[in-house]
Amino acid sequence: MRTALLGDIHANLEALEAVLADATTQGVTDYACLGDVVGYNADPVTCLNMIRDIGCPTVKGNHDQDASEDHSLENMNPVAATALQWTRNQLDEDQRLWLKRLRMVRQVSDYTIVHSTLDQPVNWNYVTNRFDAISNFSYQFTQLCFHGHTHVPRVYIKSEKVRQIPADAVVIEPSAKYFINIGSVGQPRDGDPRACYAIYDPENNLVVFRRVDYDIAKTQAKIIEAGLPKALAERLAEGR
Ligand code: ZN
Repeated sequence: MRTALLGDIHANLEALEAVLADATTQGVTDYACLGDVVGYNADPVTCLNMIRDIGCPTVKGNHDQDASEDHSLENMNPVAATALQWTRNQLDEDQRLWLKRLRMVRQVSDYTIVHSTLDQPVNWNYVTNRFDAISNFSYQFTQLCFHGHTHVPRVYIKSEKVRQIPADAVVIEPSAKYFINIGSVGQPRDGDPRACYAIYDPENNLVVFRRVDYDIAKTQAKIIEAGLPKALAERLAEGR
């Protein structure tokens, strides 16, 4: 069994298709989705339907929540708010209900998935350093927890103490716990514009990160054509 962990897809169809094709070449048998299926980019309906059709365990992201509700977006960053209002107009009632019913946290076999962090997941806190990770570990009861939200792949390990280790191939040691940010499929922010996801291989005690090229120009053209903010197209090329 090999599980692909996909998160922060953000309505980027070209990136999602490229990642799914790559996962097939890697012998992936299972999928889990870490939230923010929609928001920012121009294909929320198709991306949502693809994830729904895969039928994989999926948790709710903050953009999924905001797209599925009707509250005011006034306090939000204006670019994200514009995209969310546009996204609300694309989705039908059934699609919004699917987003609304997503759970915040799920345990899947021997690991847990959450969009942001296990301590107060409804607050959507960003984990950017080991102190944030320490708070999460207090609530982590499985050896592995996968999350997203910052769009930056990061790996925290808790053995004697909590520390950050490089986000490439992670060999799972039996006595340690891991809190792993699997990066973003549809809007990477670590300076590498390629789509990012991770594969968990429990038989070999391994988590590997994958970076996948996709047709960024096509995604950018759709963003402009949809009338979404130009900045959303530009950032994809920079991976920011
Ligand atoms: Zn996101």
